Amino acid sequence: MFDVASSLQRIKSTLPEGVELIAVSKFHPNEYLEIAYQQGQRVFGESHVQELTAKAKTLPTDIQWHFIGHLQTNKVKYIAPFITMIGAVDSLRLLHEINKQALKNNRVIEVLLELHIAEEETKYGFRLDECRQMLEEGEWREMKGIHIAGLMMMASNTDNEEQIRQEMMIAADFFDEVKEKFFANDPQFRERSWGMSDDYPIAIACRSTMVRVGTAIFGERIY
Ligand SMILES: *Cc1c(COP(=O)(O)O)cnc(C)c1O
Repeated sequence: MFDVASSLQRIKSTLPEGVELIAVSKFHPNEYLEIAYQQGQRVFGESHVQELTAKAKTLPTDIQWHFIGHLQTNKVKYIAPFITMIGAVDSLRLLHEINKQALKNNRVIEVLLELHIAEEETKYGFRLDECRQMLEEGEWREMKGIHIAGLMMMASNTDNEEQIRQEMMIAADFFDEVKEKFFANDPQFRERSWGMSDDYPIAIACRSTMVRVGTAIFGERIY
């Protein structure tokens, strides 16, 4: 069995203060999450609604669940009662639906806007100009059930570290731009979520505040 406890401790020891670790537990059994929980980990990331709701029902209730993958609008209702953060909002339509479902549950759900910077067409997210335009149009300001807590991105899946660094720096610079233009008076707009198992050290150098690490904690996923 993969040594979850020591992998988790090893990674935590390398993270500077101010960088939060999301333990990405998708496709791993409850048993693995429980080991991480016993080590003090409380923030877990999942990317499939059914799997997440099943885990949330059976695991300790003080776990903070982050939905980190692509979320279909028609599935928001299943996670709205308990989700802490929805980490990859890639359309205004999804933002409206999260707001609606949050209000139904008398909650405010934290969200991150997902940027599409990587070269791959397969990745989701707003292009920078789309994101600017959405923020300028301002519908989000009327949504009392959501709070935009920052930005998220995934770098290209490549061995070229310089490319990864460049993409993450584009995101970091864009964060500064929108922070100043739209969130200057909102200290809760604060998160820069980039970095996964293979690139989180680069992400930290590129001002990430929230790394999403799966394989390096739990081992290879068995799909
Ligand atoms: C699965 C996933 C991760 C974690 O990936 P690892 O390479 O296993 O660390 C991070 N972010 C998102 C959005 C994911 O879907």
